[in-house]
Amino acid sequence: MTILIVGAGVAGPTLAYWLRRAGHDVTLVERASELRRGGYVIDFWGAGFEVADRMGVLPEILRRGYRIGEVRQVNDAGRTFAAFRADVFFRATGGRYVSIPRGDLASILYDALDDRVERIFGDTVRALDDDGTRVRVTFEQGAPREFDLVVGADGQHSSIRRLVFGPEAQFETFLGITVAAFDVEGYRPRDELVYVLHTEVGRQIARFAMDGDRTMFLLTFRDDGRAATEDDEAQRSVLRARMAGAGWETSRILAHLSEARTFYFDRVSQIRMPSWTRGRVALVGDAAACVSLLAGQGTALAMVESYVLAAELSRARGDHREAFSGYERMLMPFLRSKQEAAVRLAPAFAPKSRAQLFFIKSITKLMGLPLVANLAMGKSVRDAIELPPPPGE
Ligand SMILES: Cc1cc2nc3c(=O)[nH]c(=O)nc-3n(C[C@H](O)[C@H](O)[C@H](O)COP(=O)(O)OP(=O)(O)OC[C@H]3O[C@@H](n4cnc5c(N)ncnc54)[C@H](O)[C@@H]3O)c2cc1C
Repeated sequence: MTILIVGAGVAGPTLAYWLRRAGHDVTLVERASELRRGGYVIDFWGAGFEVADRMGVLPEILRRGYRIGEVRQVNDAGRTFAAFRADVFFRATGGRYVSIPRGDLASILYDALDDRVERIFGDTVRALDDDGTRVRVTFEQGAPREFDLVVGADGQHSSIRRLVFGPEAQFETFLGITVAAFDVEGYRPRDELVYVLHTEVGRQIARFAMDGDRTMFLLTFRDDGRAATEDDEAQRSVLRARMAGAGWETSRILAHLSEARTFYFDRVSQIRMPSWTRGRVALVGDAAACVSLLAGQGTALAMVESYVLAAELSRARGDHREAFSGYERMLMPFLRSKQEAAVRLAPAFAPKSRAQLFFIKSITKLMGLPLVANLAMGKSVRDAIELPPPPGE
């Protein structure tokens, strides 16, 4: 089949890889003029880790990733009041756990594509016409073309979803938090392999020291989410305003914002849809079922969705109706349970009240006890899903 994938983030290249392996003719179109490398350090484990292993990219992911040693909560003065050793994650997953910058993961997946995957940068889809046998696609720049299938892998604010299923507002559950992530060079102090957090009522600031003298910052705050649709400069001023007066190193971190090499800013939302497919069009990754950063697993789950969609297309020998319903049946309940679990973690990123803040601090302290940490982790890191055999095999 000829298949158009829209979006070269995490889900898009993973899907392109597996569809190509199964012998399909794949075209990948990305709106940005080059691969987008920004984003925070993400935790990577579970079924997505297994997909990466099957793609043969695991050695490179482990080489460029980090094994965080400690998670540390600090007070206004920067003094540690609660900490736990992060090897609980490692143990709970049998060593199949790594933290890696989102941009590095995206580029490793993209580099795994073979030359026969057609790539188009700096263009996007303007309109789709699915006549039941083919999908006629009108691009913003290129000439119109026809494909057997079109897959939207264009993220949380997917335009393929809008064109085919309707406005984002119908499917978005905003979780009341806005996120910003950026990285700078030469920031001091550095705490190697320590994830340092400072949490206050309504906001949190985290920093992580990376290779090349870079430091990444993740800031989350309670907000109405409207600034996410504004331009970069407006977003930076909202961030400064919302973080003003926060303790610890916050004012120093904000002073570096103007030197940020990459800047990510968005609403923390989930996408919940009754169906991820319509006719000859399907959605994967955040476009279909964004779990939000609260789940700590969005990229890995995006890869699982791509893998399962490709596997179902293989299994159904090109019968896209059967494949699409198999894809939804296998993953919708799983993704919904991940979304529900993520919502319960919202207080950990921006507690609503002093009571929630106290609760979060107590949990961090308890995680310092190996028995509690092992019990808590053992249950939450297991992915209740069996991956199908590799597509095309
Ligand atoms: C630059 C960037 C930084 C991020 N940083 C963080 C972070 O710090 N923390 C976090 O929790 N999540 C972050 N995310 C989201 C995270 O990457 C996703 O939750 C996860 O990887 C799911 O992957 P995805 O492929 O579905 O979506 P994404 O990784 O978001 O990829 C979607 C891709 O589609 C492209 N695209 C969008 N619209 C169109 C269009 N109309 N036509 C063609 N292409 C289009 C985008 O440019 C992007 O390359 C970031 C995403 C991006 C793009």
